[in-house]
Amino acid sequence: MQPENNIASPNELEIKSINSELQNQVGTKVYDHWFHEKTSFRIEDDHLTIGVSSPFVLNWMQKQFRKESSLAAQSVLGASASVKFIVDSDLTRQSISENITDKNSSDSDKSKNPDSTSRPSKFDSSSLAQPKVHRNGTSRRRYLDFSEFVSGSGNEMALLASKQVCIEPGSRFSPLYLYGGVGLGKTHLLEGIYRRVRQENPSLRVMLITAETFTNYFTQALREHSLPGFRQRFRKVDVLLVDDIDFLESKKIIQEEFLHTFKHLQNEGKQVVVSSDRHPKMLMKISDELKSLLLSGLVCRIEAPDFETRSNIVDFFIAKHSFSISNEAKQFVARRFKNNIREIQGALNCLDTYSKMTGKTITVTAAQKVLSSLERDCIRIVRMSDVEQTVCDFFGVSADDLRSNRRSRSISQPRMLAMYLVRKHTQTAFNEIGDYFGGRNHSTVISAQRKVESMLEEQATIKIASQSWSLGEVIESLESRLQVS
Ligand code: ADP
Ligand code: MG
Repeated sequence: MQPENNIASPNELEIKSINSELQNQVGTKVYDHWFHEKTSFRIEDDHLTIGVSSPFVLNWMQKQFRKESSLAAQSVLGASASVKFIVDSDLTRQSISENITDKNSSDSDKSKNPDSTSRPSKFDSSSLAQPKVHRNGTSRRRYLDFSEFVSGSGNEMALLASKQVCIEPGSRFSPLYLYGGVGLGKTHLLEGIYRRVRQENPSLRVMLITAETFTNYFTQALREHSLPGFRQRFRKVDVLLVDDIDFLESKKIIQEEFLHTFKHLQNEGKQVVVSSDRHPKMLMKISDELKSLLLSGLVCRIEAPDFETRSNIVDFFIAKHSFSISNEAKQFVARRFKNNIREIQGALNCLDTYSKMTGKTITVTAAQKVLSSLERDCIRIVRMSDVEQTVCDFFGVSADDLRSNRRSRSISQPRMLAMYLVRKHTQTAFNEIGDYFGGRNHSTVISAQRKVESMLEEQATIKIASQSWSLGEVIESLESRLQVS
């Protein structure tokens, strides 16, 4: 392990003071609920930036805690102190990156190291074992358990397969590939595997890492000429869990490095589990060799939860947080938030706080009131360029291709979908959309829209990388990347 550094920097001391002042301002219960281990703090001069996990939370926090945060900042940084809330992508991804631990580090190690933000200076095993500690000096994350995962028709296969790999890692489904939209439980399942393997097979080395962190460590090792240490580190694990593998798209050298690690582990009969937002065949900019390795085990899709599962998730959360809410209000939440479990949790968090602050049972009217203002604030503004970027990334085509006159299906289909999605999510005028996509006539856009609608009605498929895909599923995947529903 990294030696402990118990000397807090002036910045950390200020952050600690701000946190305790905040706690005084809002009360311990509310502080624990909204700030503790859920926020990040940064100070530059007399500006305090508070990071939160999503735009959803951001709007709520800004509304509820702006005054208290300002007062807390002013009491520590002086009268001219200012406060800004931002979405901290680190918290959003709940990156497990710096949380990589090996079999030698226990959960209790996490709260010890007060050095929160520093990257390991040299690539060696001790730096990897260093857990991420939150900027306010406390550990940020605890690994979730299978027992906290509510199963339903959309995710039960994935849950079963995840549990199965824990029984005899490496023996059956390796690699296990879990894919599905944002907030559907991929990371949760990886954490569940991590926990269970460590509980039941403490002698096995388990590593949980995001593809992004793998990339960061690799580039760092390259820079510092410590590749052998890097390789050794990754190749001696028994169970490697890699979250968000789609991050490796377009990164050829990293893909190559990952492929070697992967092959090595496969040859040794070790277990690899990977998560992604898409089926391996839809990873357009991943090498064929890596793709076929990813396909060589069990590929499992996680679908958006149906009403019954959503209701069970709502019940589970409410039981865990024990707050008072009517049955109608519960149903209202389960009906309203359809696509994403993280959203359901965000909504229930708000209702929980509201109920604890007011001391009242949440009725359906109260739920409607609290959540509708939150939803209104959180509507994601989609621009034409967002759609263009998303479609290009997804299909592996360029913006120039979309605007060109090329009529081959590999270009015309992405173009048609881009037009359809722009119209659906931005309500831009047809002629403006036509102009944007290569100076086309408004009637071209109208017919693209009609075509997609009728294909959806017929449950048609389209070909991507010589494979047929349901158009509905492709659009769902694109919309999930755009974060719209
Ligand atoms: P993803 O990695 O697919 O984007 P996460 O695993 O981060 O999604 O899940 C988002 C949040 O929803 C997490 O807090 C997770 O615990 C919760 N969650 C997801 N699926 C379930 C489930 N089936 N039951 C209970 N909680 C869930
Ligand atoms: Mg995730």
